[in-house]
Amino acid sequence: MSNMPKKTDVILIGAGIMSATLGALLKALAPEWEIKVFEKLAKAGEESSNEWNNAGTGHAALCELNYTSEKPDGSIDVSKAIKINEQFQLSLQFWSYLVKSNLICNPKDFIMPIPHMSFVQGEKNVAFLKKRFEALTAYHQFQGMEFSDDPKKLKEWIPLVMEGRQPKEPIAATRIESGTDVNFGALTRMLFEHLKNENVEVHYKHQVKNIKRAGDRLWEVKVRNLESGKVERHTAKFVFIGGGGGSLPLLQKTGIPESKRIGGFPVSGLFMVCNNQEVVEQHHAKVYGKAKVGAPPMSVPHLDTRYIDNKKTLLFGPFAGFSPKFLKTGSYFDLIGSIKPNNILTMLAAGVKEMALTKYLIQQLLLSNEQRMQELREFIPDARSEDWNIIVAGQRVQVIKDTETGGKGTLQFGTEVVSSADGSIAALLGASPGASTAVHAMLEVLQKCFPQQMKEWEPKIKEMIPSYGISLVDNPKLLQEIRTETSQTLGLSKKIPVFS
Ligand SMILES: Cc1cc2nc3c(=O)[nH]c(=O)nc-3n(C[C@H](O)[C@H](O)[C@H](O)COP(=O)(O)OP(=O)(O)OC[C@H]3O[C@@H](n4cnc5c(N)ncnc54)[C@H](O)[C@@H]3O)c2cc1C
Repeated sequence: MSNMPKKTDVILIGAGIMSATLGALLKALAPEWEIKVFEKLAKAGEESSNEWNNAGTGHAALCELNYTSEKPDGSIDVSKAIKINEQFQLSLQFWSYLVKSNLICNPKDFIMPIPHMSFVQGEKNVAFLKKRFEALTAYHQFQGMEFSDDPKKLKEWIPLVMEGRQPKEPIAATRIESGTDVNFGALTRMLFEHLKNENVEVHYKHQVKNIKRAGDRLWEVKVRNLESGKVERHTAKFVFIGGGGGSLPLLQKTGIPESKRIGGFPVSGLFMVCNNQEVVEQHHAKVYGKAKVGAPPMSVPHLDTRYIDNKKTLLFGPFAGFSPKFLKTGSYFDLIGSIKPNNILTMLAAGVKEMALTKYLIQQLLLSNEQRMQELREFIPDARSEDWNIIVAGQRVQVIKDTETGGKGTLQFGTEVVSSADGSIAALLGASPGASTAVHAMLEVLQKCFPQQMKEWEPKIKEMIPSYGISLVDNPKLLQEIRTETSQTLGLSKKIPVFS
């Protein structure tokens, strides 16, 4: 091992969508900074960001029922849906900027328009969906959304779902044309291609083994070259831990106070993929259902038209499951290795609280193929087993921490940026809404870690992302402008509602 660490300005750990996004933002804001990336796998975008490992939904809260909860008084809380919709608009604007500036090209290789739908059965669920539709469409963000409980209309929208269905109970759906399918794997690879052209050093097959302080505002990162077996040391003024599920163990190695009393709860997943192109062609939407009672939000079933390698595909799932690994390519010792003296009480408290969830995940894992087909038949009544294969999806690691409202060991379902007080290191934990809101999450990293530079950077950020710092709820005109612009640049739905 060489004794002389190699110096750089910024180290990004992991070549997923988060590091790709942060790298692209930093290259636009501080082009002179030297950036190095270390990725343990052979290519970019091979873990959760890979197109086969996630559902590719551009989460804009157009169809996900878990973003709108029913309050005790029966009204619908739309605050989370509005927040996520605004965050997704930031992503669309940044991607649009990159395309317009020729920094990435062929947007149809990573984003496609696809209607987003919510589909429910049963009187209570239909009433909920109607109320949700009314509450959302009061906001201009959701104008263009339609509701129907008429089986004829539904047959027009989702023929495959309605074929062979004899509704014994009420059914209903909402539909909005401005939804998207995003190939986050392709986008990650494009962003890394762009970073390479900007002289960012990307080291594949390099695994980060340790991170420690090397003086004031300086970090030393120990990296193993997985081909040669050699260990290298690199120092940087700023380190971003974008290791996906692998971020928590790396964050723990930093020893920063902010890394204490945090644990991770891994959730694995499976998708069913249709292998019959005739069936695939009969469906054209992302259709989200309602999570079963007791099921975590990430296991809401959905039937998705996807565009992967320019081919139309149909996926159903995800079926959640339990695995102690933190990455798909991780180790069975990941979970046990993440239990430390400082988080053991938090983890134990979560273990007791989340017994039902663990039981649910294990039950899901033990489902037979025929039982999974039964769940699919709630969406496609005539689905035939021979038309569907099972694939393993990515791993998610949900954050466990002590919170004021939830108490000790509370499971979090969002995405969280954890950073040191001096802003010299940050990590992204959690997985939802995930890749769709990568731009928002990475802007948060910039705000937390580079407060001095933000003033100087703001004009450039606003050039790239015109709605940065502005509420779109209060600015329908701006929303209309950015929708028109991003739809044109990214080739999305031309039907832009005119806001009144
Ligand atoms: C089943 C499933 C469905 C999902 N559906 C959606 C969806 O529909 N829409 C959406 O927006 N989001 C979705 N997500 C979430 C989304 O996929 C993730 O939030 C996002 O991909 C995370 O990106 P990342 O860059 O943080 O992590 P990753 O893409 O996992 O990248 C992390 C990288 O770090 C590398 N790494 C880890 N440890 C080390 C180390 N020690 N040294 C070097 N490299 C390391 C890994 O090899 C990996 O390449 C889904 C996730 C799952 C699992």
